[in-house]
Amino acid sequence: MNKFLTDKVNNLTPSATLAMAAKARELKSKGVDVIGLSLGEPDFNIPEFIKEEAVKAINDNYNSYTPVDGYVDLKKAISRKFSRDNNLNYSASQIVVSTGAKQSIANVIESMISPGDEVILLAPFWVSYSAMIEICGGIPIIVESDITSNFKVPASKIKDNITFKTKMIIVNSPNNPSGSIYNEYELREIGKMLMDYPEIFVLSDEIYEHINYGVKHFSFASIPKMYNRTITVNGVAKAFAMTGWRIGYLGAPEWLAKACTKLQGQSTSGANCIAQRATIAALDANVNQIKYMIDEFSERKELIINLLSEIKGFEINNPDGAFYIFPDVSYFFGKIIDGFEIKNSTDFSLFLLEKAHVATVTGEAFGSPNNIRISYAASRENIKKAIERIKSIF
Ligand code: GLU
Repeated sequence: MNKFLTDKVNNLTPSATLAMAAKARELKSKGVDVIGLSLGEPDFNIPEFIKEEAVKAINDNYNSYTPVDGYVDLKKAISRKFSRDNNLNYSASQIVVSTGAKQSIANVIESMISPGDEVILLAPFWVSYSAMIEICGGIPIIVESDITSNFKVPASKIKDNITFKTKMIIVNSPNNPSGSIYNEYELREIGKMLMDYPEIFVLSDEIYEHINYGVKHFSFASIPKMYNRTITVNGVAKAFAMTGWRIGYLGAPEWLAKACTKLQGQSTSGANCIAQRATIAALDANVNQIKYMIDEFSERKELIINLLSEIKGFEINNPDGAFYIFPDVSYFFGKIIDGFEIKNSTDFSLFLLEKAHVATVTGEAFGSPNNIRISYAASRENIKKAIERIKSIF
């Protein structure tokens, strides 16, 4: 606690994903050979055709402020992408470009959530949703799931958690951290259930859309009766290996797009101009141009599942998307191994860091205290080495 800081910041939980990545970086800088499987960050280079557009934008002197909500031709490219991939019709006035999908989500939450409002999160959920809601004085309502239901929450269970204070539900498919994908039927069931609640909105976070190993992606806003109360968030970080370029976007009802633009105009003024120009090339590309990365992630998934299943105590899921596995490690709770007491998944994750020098993220941060998240957005060599090390400490 620091008396000069606001309660809001004093009470804020640091991002567990970024905190673990920082810890791994710090250990590395001290000479410890840490293998980082904590961050959801593709290890590929950005495709050449995207880099070329960025270089061209610099040479063409794109250096001024952009429109707050993004260049018009980028918003048109986003509109084409939504129509091509998602069967969604968003005009440029319904689209806002932001500094990463993270800011798109923060803008929506800040625009819509007032103190006391409830937002339903389907566990496991990405660590920053709950923090963003709390920053606005909202209340995250966590609806649990576990490995036995493939980390998915059925519509009936969501309904049980709706109250007169429920303002929004966040759906994230493919899911970070479980990699599970809600299929069209499951999402339509949620949509059907919401017909009884005409004032509840859905924020559909589709940032992992293209990291998909076979289940057809379905966009929640393509349910006609939900279109006017769904916000579709996406970005280029994961599919195009552009994490640091920080470009995300949303499609929403026009009044909400305007609100997010107003908010953004008083905070960042808009996303980076060079990255916006490069994003046009990324979004207009044929998705086959990034298939090599998805194929490689798929191979790595098989590799990590095979290697981890050789270790007693790891109950492993087989995800349909994203680049994480989310094993249940509760078998180890209550055990003392090599002098290290493991009471929960945070201890377990720290145990792996200390004894095997492998960075993962505790499931507690994602609302699933029996699990840990392991990112396989790492080279096969590093995956093999990491699991070998983990195996050797038991
Ligand atoms: N979304 C990624 C992750 O979960 C990046 C880090 C973050 O912003 O949380 O690892």
